[in-house]
Amino acid sequence: MKIPLFKLFLLFSLFSLSLSHEPQNLLVFPRPLIVEYSELDEDVNLRCTSWRFAGEANNLSPWKTVPKECAEQVKEYMTGKGYVYDLEIASKEAAEFAKSLQLQDDGFDAWVFDIDETLLSNLPYYAAHGYGLEVFDHKKFDDWVEKGIAPALEPSLKLYEDVLNMGYKVILLTGRSEQHRDVTVDNLINAGFRDWHQLILRSSDDKGKLAVVYKSDKRSEMEKDGYRILGNSGDQWSDLLGSSVSVRSFKLPNPMYYIA
Ligand SMILES: [Mg+2]
Repeated sequence: MKIPLFKLFLLFSLFSLSLSHEPQNLLVFPRPLIVEYSELDEDVNLRCTSWRFAGEANNLSPWKTVPKECAEQVKEYMTGKGYVYDLEIASKEAAEFAKSLQLQDDGFDAWVFDIDETLLSNLPYYAAHGYGLEVFDHKKFDDWVEKGIAPALEPSLKLYEDVLNMGYKVILLTGRSEQHRDVTVDNLINAGFRDWHQLILRSSDDKGKLAVVYKSDKRSEMEKDGYRILGNSGDQWSDLLGSSVSVRSFKLPNPMYYIA
């Protein structure tokens, strides 16, 4: 039997490799280290996924910053497809629900939207501030708001247009203060939002109120004015819980900050 020359060479090479000490050492050391690192990463990844899930499910105690070990995952989530897909599914399901209701023709069927991280994205601001790793700084954030350049969250803009076309009255209820009214209006219009029925901002009377109390009070006023709040979209549970809650609430993801 004739064995081709290159096969002989291969056999010889493998044989010499098995006798040599050096290649064995190379095989012994790097592998366990690689496994160790990837298991560590995997565990951090899982813990941070659990942390984000607990946040979205409102199981976490009030928190001030993203845990340090989760900063990278939050950044990847916020800048990747996951965040967009989560917004899209919330928007799509909300639109399905909105469509399923029979509206009355008195013009009092309302859909409430929060603004920040619901209609407008402050991601450019948070990108410069560690995606929630830094403690929230009101002054710096107000400076950003005053620029009026926050882009629309496209899936929310789609829902916004859908519910408007279905005949809902859109009411915007934001934790931003009255002093930001003009820039907020300009920002919303430039981002593509139009024809809202009311824009409610925090007045001096609302100062110091927890968001959940302020927003509940405002929804209660809407109800007193005769509105039926059928849907509510917000990125904070304090947008959605409390009293005078909507028939259905849609929680948008936000792993960067928490507002009580
Ligand atoms: Mg918000």
